[in-house]
Amino acid sequence: MLERRANGEFTDLDLDDKEKNYVEAYEEFAEYVHEWAIRKGWWDIEEKEGGERNDAEMIALMHSELSEALEGLRGSLDSEKIPGYRNVEEELADCIVRIMDYGSARGLRIGEALVVKQRFNEKRPYRHGGKKY
Ligand SMILES: [Mg+2]
Repeated sequence: MLERRANGEFTDLDLDDKEKNYVEAYEEFAEYVHEWAIRKGWWDIEEKEGGERNDAEMIALMHSELSEALEGLRGSLDSEKIPGYRNVEEELADCIVRIMDYGSARGLRIGEALVVKQRFNEKRPYRHGGKKY
C-alpha cells in the first residue's frame, strides 16, 4: 500500500491483513463519529459559517475527557449515562470520540499511525531503556 506522509513524500506502508482490518475499522468508525458531530452542529462554524474551529481548543477538550476519567476513578464508579459501564470507561470513550472526530475532520491518518506506532513501540527496549514509568 502506497501512502503519503505528512511531509508529502510517499512511503510503502506494508500492512498485513490484521493491521488493515484495524485501520479500516478505526477509519470507518471515525468517519461515522465525525458525520454525527456535524449533524449535531459541532462543526457549524466550518460547515455553515465560513469560520474555523480552534484546534488547540479541541485538543484541550480531549484533555478534559481524561480529567473526567480521573474524576471517575476518584468519585462515583458507575456511569449514569451508559448504565452497566464505569465512569472511567465512559470518559475514556469520550476522549476517543473526540480524537476520532478531530482526526477525521482534519484528514489525519490516526488509524495507520496507531499501527505504525505500535510496531515502533514493540521494537523498543524493556521499559524503553530503563524509564521508571
Ligand atoms: Mg465526558
